[in-house]
Amino acid sequence: MTRVGFIGLGRMGHGMAGRYIEAGFTVSVWNRSRAKAEDLIARGARWATSPEDAAIDADAVVTMVADDNASREVWLAKDGAAATMKASALAIECSTVSYGHALELARELRSRGLVYIDSPVTGLPDAAASGKLTMLVGAEPADLEKARPYLAPLSSAIRHFGPVGSGTVFKLINNLMGAIQIAGIAEGLAIAEQAGLDMKLVLEAIENGVAASPQVLRHSKRMVARNFSGATFTTALRHKDASYAVTLAESLLSDTPLMGRAAVEAYERAKVHAPDDDEGKMIEIVSRPK
Ligand code: NAP
Repeated sequence: MTRVGFIGLGRMGHGMAGRYIEAGFTVSVWNRSRAKAEDLIARGARWATSPEDAAIDADAVVTMVADDNASREVWLAKDGAAATMKASALAIECSTVSYGHALELARELRSRGLVYIDSPVTGLPDAAASGKLTMLVGAEPADLEKARPYLAPLSSAIRHFGPVGSGTVFKLINNLMGAIQIAGIAEGLAIAEQAGLDMKLVLEAIENGVAASPQVLRHSKRMVARNFSGATFTTALRHKDASYAVTLAESLLSDTPLMGRAAVEAYERAKVHAPDDDEGKMIEIVSRPK
């Protein structure tokens, strides 16, 4: 039976690991805090005592952790997955990491005889749990073919952008555009509130206007209602993605005044205010208390 080591059982990773169990893979799981693994263990996963332990005998190791530091820890630390992976096994990084880190990790893992692909994702935690993510892949074509059986249980679409790192480039621009939009929604709504507009009418007009992207629709309703329950993506993670994207932008678009920088600054403030809450709390940063 095909063996997967799955590392990182947060909002996204928990559902993704569950998909492998449902698909009949033999699954070992590791998370920094064990509590999040208990129900997966009850469903048949083996608890691994370290990333290194999760990787023993695995045909593929899949990681879904917060950021570059967490990724470095789980792959490359003394008890990291790379320490025990067998030669030619697949190393699939699904976390959103910086472009520089994706390339560095690829170099390091390839030098150890492993096959690395970057495959960050789009889709919220409910898509992760139901196998409906979109995988944004950077990989050699042959490596992607080898990885497809491990991406299939997680996804309804696989988009191959090019060599290693290119999936991460797309993910970062996607989330930078999202950060700019969300900061823009908060600013627009705060202006409308302060100007005394009827916010029900404002929402109706937004919904039927040209600015109505899925992002705008979702966040504008929640922001006007100040309803941030069921956080799916936190301000800290949005800030991380926008910062990584701006670092990439600075290397490619030197001398351009970047809108992304303003979004990063806005998210820096939101992160201080409510790091682990829904990213829509951005409106509390720009609006005056009602
Ligand atoms: P989350 O719920 O905050 O989970 C973060 C995971 O990273 C947890 O398993 C956490 O372990 C682990 N972690 C953090 N620091 C670590 C470290 N130093 N060493 C080892 N493990 C560490 O985040 P999430 O929403 O699942 O996001 C995971 C990744 O997916 C991020 O890169 C995010 O940008 C990306 N993403 C998220 C969404 C979304 O809608 N949420 C969508 C697409 C992509 P503990 O449980 O012990 O804290």
